[in-house]
Amino acid sequence: MNRISALFLSLLLFACGSAETAAPVSTPAPTAAPFLVVLDFGHGGFDGGAVGAETGVKESDLNLAIGLQVKDALESRGLTVLVTRADEAALASTKKADMRARGELLQTPGASCTVSIHMNKFSDRSVSGPMTFYQPGAEEGRRLAQCVIDRVTEAVGKKPRLANPANNFVTRVPSAPSALVECGFLSNRADEQDLQDETYQKTLAEAIAAGILDFLMPPASP
Ligand SMILES: [Zn+2]
Repeated sequence: MNRISALFLSLLLFACGSAETAAPVSTPAPTAAPFLVVLDFGHGGFDGGAVGAETGVKESDLNLAIGLQVKDALESRGLTVLVTRADEAALASTKKADMRARGELLQTPGASCTVSIHMNKFSDRSVSGPMTFYQPGAEEGRRLAQCVIDRVTEAVGKKPRLANPANNFVTRVPSAPSALVECGFLSNRADEQDLQDETYQKTLAEAIAAGILDFLMPPASP
């Protein structure tokens, strides 16, 4: 290498090096994201929520089983996760106090988003499948709810669905973008069976986590 090309090379290296240090980071690294997600596992303790029509399974137990796997999936991607409950117990001894405590956790300062996990029930037992909800008028909540339902329907092989607007405590109270996930219908025979299947639970949980990540770290537009 002659002196001129050596000089050129060192200039090039210098230019690349300074460009690298000066360039703003436009896409966050997927494993080092400074995100805090609040996960709310509906019901618990004295409040079992909906009951499986065929097996009597409690909604609160399924919310916990699936929710803890969502937590694991998010933590494995480097996110910080706060949960409203980590076991079968309620947050307090009365419904009112439980909701107050839940509301405080859902309002945790610095939360990037909140997601509440529930199971559905309906008088028409033919109605089935996962659904997501957001607070009417909350655009970021709508986007979060849509990211989650897109991943979930795809993962469990259901037709795509739109997220639904609905006025619920768990989407109304948080200041961060919030969604409510109804994983399936405990009034529907097939859903009730699926929701108790460990493989199905894992698929659902990973899809919910993937939807949350899609919301927090949207894929760069081409
Ligand atoms: Zn519920």
